[in-house]
Amino acid sequence: MSGIYIHIPFCKQACHYCDFHFSTNMGKKEAMVLALIKELELRKEEFKDEVVETIYFGGGTPSVLNTAEIDQIIGAVYGNYTVVSAPEITLEANPDDLSKEKILELANSPINRLSIGIQSFFEEDLKLMNRAHNAQEAEACIAMAQVYFDNISIDLIYGIPGMTNERWISNIEKALDFGVPHISSYALTVEPKTALKTFIDKGLVPPVDDELAESHFHILVQKLSAAGFVNYEISNFGKPGYFSRNNTAYWQGKKYLGIGPSAHSYDRIRRGWNINNNAKYIKAIAQNELPMETEVLSKTDRYNEYVMTGLRTIWGVSLERIKTEFGQKFYAYLTQQAQKKIEDGLLYIENDRLLVSKKGKFLSDGIAADLFLVNLS
Ligand code: SF4
Repeated sequence: MSGIYIHIPFCKQACHYCDFHFSTNMGKKEAMVLALIKELELRKEEFKDEVVETIYFGGGTPSVLNTAEIDQIIGAVYGNYTVVSAPEITLEANPDDLSKEKILELANSPINRLSIGIQSFFEEDLKLMNRAHNAQEAEACIAMAQVYFDNISIDLIYGIPGMTNERWISNIEKALDFGVPHISSYALTVEPKTALKTFIDKGLVPPVDDELAESHFHILVQKLSAAGFVNYEISNFGKPGYFSRNNTAYWQGKKYLGIGPSAHSYDRIRRGWNINNNAKYIKAIAQNELPMETEVLSKTDRYNEYVMTGLRTIWGVSLERIKTEFGQKFYAYLTQQAQKKIEDGLLYIENDRLLVSKKGKFLSDGIAADLFLVNLS
């Protein structure tokens, strides 16, 4: 089983914290759709032995596409790839695009899962982040989407400067009141070269407070666990039966094809990434060239990637897999490095799997980094 990720590199306006690849100039949208379809055709051989289980429209803002464009792209997937009978087809959507008409159109398309970029239900947070929607749209679009879609995820951001614990709790409670079955939630991070970084450097916005973010994370885990959500990946919470099939496949190391500018691909041997420039991407594809760079992953790279993704999930790192896939040297290194963390209560072993404890959860990326290898092969 494998997945196809399709990157839609357009947004109505730039969120202040964002470092994804997108353009606010929609002038090339039609040409981009044709290029995405052509890339799907050009790369079909890479997946000739694969069965596609998930299709994921990410961005950027995929909801800027009209449904005819979405249908054309999905048609190109079906026309060139073998697809399971009931694939998960997710569209990331922003509240300001989700009018009643648009939701109805999407409900009549093959899209069967919506991932809505709510981020916050509060005007102050939305303004600080320069989101294109307002608090009223955030609430209205969920209520309308729920009429037609059962499988809905919403994104929420915590650790926003000025966001008190009370406001964060209100955000979580609003999400719970809607009864959505999946929530993805991330700490606000300050990336280099973003407007947010500039504002913080100039003193116009207070810096992000890591302790506040950690406190928000613990509140999130506690409230969502109490409401029956499983924290199946550090930033993802799903009711049973509603875990993202796309993301789960990715965390479990399955193959994926990344289509569109800046999209990444992975085939268990190498990783590839498309050029992150819309004009150059369209031009290359028009000339039947794949504007992609690749790197072959060493055994050490694959080990590090597995430890990083494994520790972020409830499936942890299989010690048996480390032994059989990577060998005794890697196994010995991992168990030795993990020992101190186990003694500190940050990691534990259960059913031959290395897992992050409740205490270590917020720190899981740092813990994983301490278990990385630099040069064994
Ligand atoms: S909508 Fe998403 S991709 Fe676009 S600027 Fe905002 S965060 Fe970035």
